[in-house]
Amino acid sequence: MTEFIEQPNETIRSAVAQSKKIDTIVIENDALQRVPFLLREHFKTSSVFLIADENTMVAAGNGLMKDLTESGFTLTTHVFPATPYLKAKVENADVFLSRLKADGGVPVAVGSGVINDLVKYAAFQINQPYLSVATAASMDGYASAGAPLSKKGFKHTIPCAPPRVIVADLGVISNAPKAMSGWGYGDLAGKIPAGADWLIADALGIESLDSVVWPLVQDDLRTWLSNPAGVVIGDAETSNALFTGLVMVGIAMEIHGSSRPASGADHQIAHLWEMDGVKYEGLPVSHGTCVALGTLTILSLYEWLLAQDFHELDAQRVIRHRRRFDDLAKEIRRSFVSPNITEKALQETRAKYIEDDLLRERIVRIKRIWPGLRKRLADFLIPFKEMKAMLSAAGIATDPADVGIDCAYHRQTLVNSLFIRRRYTILDFLEETGRFDEAINHVFSDAGRWG
Ligand SMILES: [Zn+2]
Repeated sequence: MTEFIEQPNETIRSAVAQSKKIDTIVIENDALQRVPFLLREHFKTSSVFLIADENTMVAAGNGLMKDLTESGFTLTTHVFPATPYLKAKVENADVFLSRLKADGGVPVAVGSGVINDLVKYAAFQINQPYLSVATAASMDGYASAGAPLSKKGFKHTIPCAPPRVIVADLGVISNAPKAMSGWGYGDLAGKIPAGADWLIADALGIESLDSVVWPLVQDDLRTWLSNPAGVVIGDAETSNALFTGLVMVGIAMEIHGSSRPASGADHQIAHLWEMDGVKYEGLPVSHGTCVALGTLTILSLYEWLLAQDFHELDAQRVIRHRRRFDDLAKEIRRSFVSPNITEKALQETRAKYIEDDLLRERIVRIKRIWPGLRKRLADFLIPFKEMKAMLSAAGIATDPADVGIDCAYHRQTLVNSLFIRRRYTILDFLEETGRFDEAINHVFSDAGRWG
């Protein structure tokens, strides 16, 4: 066998070296041919349980099965039908989990978001490392340690282990439907507002930046996002950059131990739409599209925020007019239909609600640090208009109306996104400074902004 350098990409090699669970990530042309070798090398196995759907079988699964069979592997498969589309819910992982337990074999996920998350979840239930064959640069979850799946209707990230080995064949990734690469681009773009949210939480002493993890996501982010037109063409170099960015984000989440490096208020909006099962022309609106729209929405809030001067902020006045936990609870009960989501939103909101004394201290701190923080945010952020042009060039929707989300629903989602997670974001900053409504009005003040 000719010598094979498993990881020629230095950025990924050094990140993988810090991962406790990922042995290697192979991103190259013809990477699929490496799979038999990687299974023997990293799993010491010749028995595989392959999970795919009918589309990903055509994209990569059939060729892989042939290679594995010829290489002497024994194979069990579970192939989901192409239609109806596969939902990201725990119940779908249970469909093959009992067979996986009975038949054994190293799970090999051939697919993108949903397939990978289902296998990640199932493999973790039986404490079995798995191999992921990526078929599209469509989301950042390949390397992450959590599976965002819904269980009884509430979507949350279930702690799991990332794959031991990730294989991205650039031929396969570049040939994925162009829309899917656009989704990956949208998911990656969300790291801009997510980073800004973390900067705020750090400046307020709520959640410090992780000096190991922050550069993994943020140092090259603008480079990964620099060629949106290449996403539409599907050129191999752009696919490589996009996939590298997406797995780096996943590794960052694994090392940090939460999705903080990758997910701020933009994702809270996306999660709400996903939990509502938003569809357009009969298909669910993709995670990447939801994140792209969430990203623009939050960047619009940031645009408003950066124009503010908190010099005059009066803690007494803010406290007098603030929404008390009981007010928030009433609004939560009014706003959410599902009892599970309502219950979770109450818990999350309760966890981050602070009493008046603490709020007073926080406001004093905000006034003190705001000039420096504002500058830091302004230097860091990509402005709304620029981001909109980038997303549009990558072929992703930039107007919620493009995917059937009307203005009233968009607004309601933004208002509700405050409640669903305890993680401190711009939404909490606006709520605690008594400026939530004003900032939200700005987002919807000019319909032309979106169209
Ligand atoms: Zn995401």
